[in-house]
Amino acid sequence: MKRILPLILALFLTTACAITSTIEAAPLPATEADTTSPTSVPAETSPAAAQPAETNTTLLYISGTTHIESKPQVWPDVDAFLVFLQQVTALGMKWSIGADIGWLEGEPRAAELIQASEALGVQWDVHTHSPQDRAKAAYLITQMGGHPNSVVSGMLVSEFSNIGPQTYQGFTWTPQVLWGGTNCPGHRPGCDDLAAGLWIPLSAEQYTTHNPNGQYVRVGGGTHQLKDGRMLAQSIANGQYTYPVISFTLMVAPTTLQIVESDDGIAEITAFVSEMNGYTFVRWANIEETAQAWRAAGSVPSRIEME
Ligand SMILES: [Zn+2]
Repeated sequence: MKRILPLILALFLTTACAITSTIEAAPLPATEADTTSPTSVPAETSPAAAQPAETNTTLLYISGTTHIESKPQVWPDVDAFLVFLQQVTALGMKWSIGADIGWLEGEPRAAELIQASEALGVQWDVHTHSPQDRAKAAYLITQMGGHPNSVVSGMLVSEFSNIGPQTYQGFTWTPQVLWGGTNCPGHRPGCDDLAAGLWIPLSAEQYTTHNPNGQYVRVGGGTHQLKDGRMLAQSIANGQYTYPVISFTLMVAPTTLQIVESDDGIAEITAFVSEMNGYTFVRWANIEETAQAWRAAGSVPSRIEME
């Protein structure tokens, strides 16, 4: 994470404020959330005692994501990554990728990966370590045939008040969803906010306080670990929560294609998906779709500390 020169920051602030004041934030697009909402089984087709009655209405939305950083040492092997994406999407998982500028500009096969992954249903979030690069990243994705979504995938909590639409080369990118907030730069231990669940942060200072009048939906990814996803699902099964929607994100490292800070690869992820499919309340969705489903279900804040 580069330190931002005060001058650049000041310029960015000015620009962001100017843009924010002139561009009306678009509402989250109407979604397929309806199709993933719980539907009650018609009584006449529900055999008595075939299934225990649902004792809760909490849905657990699980997403998967991978970040690609700017330095080539940690870029994924495109062929291996595509095989991985084919495998997880075949399992029914919804994945997203956030790639920083260095990869978008430097990987010769970037366009190929963007297009082939989108064909699998993978979404492209916006992940840049320099806050002012977000519109540029989104622009580069479009130039390569992709369709960047509204997710800020990774940000410093301290820059919350600067989040807003940005324009690069005439292309305006409008954020609506926040994922992966961190309290200190550089992916260092102890920095990341590892809460699960969703809410709308009030401010950088009161980031965990829900603001019903706010704009940017924070999708908490939790710890990304399979065992913690299992615990969360078990807690929901036990009726511990009353929130309509809770989020959790599996995060896989681009070089190992294993869950970050673990040795869990596709075999363990496959077992996890199979186990989660045993719960009627689990939904597979991208980060952006998770935010849309949360809004559709009434925007009830559901932040859950996992550390
Ligand atoms: Zn990063």
